[in-house]
Amino acid sequence: MSKRSILRLVNSQATRDGDGVKIRRVVTSGDMGSLDPFLLLDEIASDDAADYIGGFPSHPHRGFETVTYMLEGGFRHKDHMGNEGHLGPGGVQWMTAGRGVIHSEMPEQEEGRLHGFQLWVNLPAKDKMQPARYQEFGAENIPEVNLESGGRVRVIAGSFRGVSGPVNKVVTKPSYFDISLADKTSIEVPTIKGYTALVYVYKGGVSIEGQLVKKGQLAQLQEGERVVMAAVEDAGLLFLSAEPINEPVVNYGPFVMNTREEIEQAISDYRAGVLTD
Ligand code: FE
Repeated sequence: MSKRSILRLVNSQATRDGDGVKIRRVVTSGDMGSLDPFLLLDEIASDDAADYIGGFPSHPHRGFETVTYMLEGGFRHKDHMGNEGHLGPGGVQWMTAGRGVIHSEMPEQEEGRLHGFQLWVNLPAKDKMQPARYQEFGAENIPEVNLESGGRVRVIAGSFRGVSGPVNKVVTKPSYFDISLADKTSIEVPTIKGYTALVYVYKGGVSIEGQLVKKGQLAQLQEGERVVMAAVEDAGLLFLSAEPINEPVVNYGPFVMNTREEIEQAISDYRAGVLTD
């Protein structure tokens, strides 16, 4: 069984989005097809309310999925259909925007630490215009696998050592694990051949086949059937894997489609108030 080494390392960049929310962004909009089917990964991590209090007021999405996972703090979500939900520490919202969602994502606290992630996952052409769908799970519904070494794996999607995450029926068949490792311990994660596999380190650092991945860095892995990650200090990381779509990616702001014409259609649908109809 071949082990995956690192194909490339990407440094996250400090930027702002929404109403001035300070984030670290791993993939820029000019590079959105490079981690197929993953499009973008943002991390919010701050103790200072000024960095997050503006939140993400009303905005649209079409053509992909947004996955919000919180470690600390909470968000309140409201959409055009009147759906409203609270996402607390350890919880996940997997939103399939499909044809269209118009929503707001606002922090549910005025002080204290907020730490979470938003991942964008692409949809194939045949699924881009499907009706919107939500999967929301609180921390109590996300299973954990305890490692002999003292670490643990929270299984949000996919399965690890026979334990399956609650997120299901996602077309790209993703794995989404939140892994904590104690210093000087390691973990082996099986990977499906041909699937894209990524590791984003949000705490400490890990070594993959001798190459260091530090906090704030994303490693895109080479092809292979497993990956071994060794903590060089107490570490926290996201392991992401999914089946690539292999279709053209044309993105503009919150719309991700296959062609420029489809992007223009999304913009005109949004302006005409029929994005989500
Ligand atoms: Fe959004």
